[in-house]
Amino acid sequence: MEPRDVDSDLTRMLLTEEEIHAKMAELARDIEADYRDKNPLLVGVLRGAVMVMADLARELRIHVEMDWMAVSSYGKGTRSSGVVRILKDLDTDLQGRDVLIVEDIIDSGLTLSWLKANLESRGAASVEICTLLRKPEAAKVAVDVRYVGFEIPNEFVVGYGLDFAEKYRNLRGIGVLAPHVYE
Ligand code: IMP
Ligand code: MG
Repeated sequence: MEPRDVDSDLTRMLLTEEEIHAKMAELARDIEADYRDKNPLLVGVLRGAVMVMADLARELRIHVEMDWMAVSSYGKGTRSSGVVRILKDLDTDLQGRDVLIVEDIIDSGLTLSWLKANLESRGAASVEICTLLRKPEAAKVAVDVRYVGFEIPNEFVVGYGLDFAEKYRNLRGIGVLAPHVYE
């Protein structure tokens, strides 16, 4: 869907699809340089990272493998609960693998710091993180994020995979959800 299709639900658009694609190309050049000859395993975090994964993977000019995990930390609200559960685990053995976690957004950082430690404990050679968006709160948690697309303000955003109560994931671009939608 286009921004105009959900116009009254958004305070404003934050990032257009074009801006996101341009940033993805930048990130891909950095990742290629770091992972050349390494056959990295991209681990997408369902469901929000689907669009990021699809665009990033196609932008990369090196071989990569892809696998998926589903974790839950949010439920239907807009605040992280801090409780992480694995809803769907990887099918890939991580022993000796160079893993790159692909995420849509880091808010509190609780989900990712937990996930990184979890994947490291499975014998991966390396575990790094790539996120399209990062909110200021994330700075408070000691999680090292190698690749960050955009630093964004502390507002609830939707689109390009990011949802509110499972909606807006198919919005082109990323917008700030108007408080009247969730209050
Ligand atoms: P964290 O544990 O607080 O870093 O939570 C990260 C997860 O919360 C993300 O993977 C998203 O699923 C969700 N999330 C955090 N902020 C937003 C937002 O602004 N819009 C939509 N989902 C969000
Ligand atoms: Mg997510």
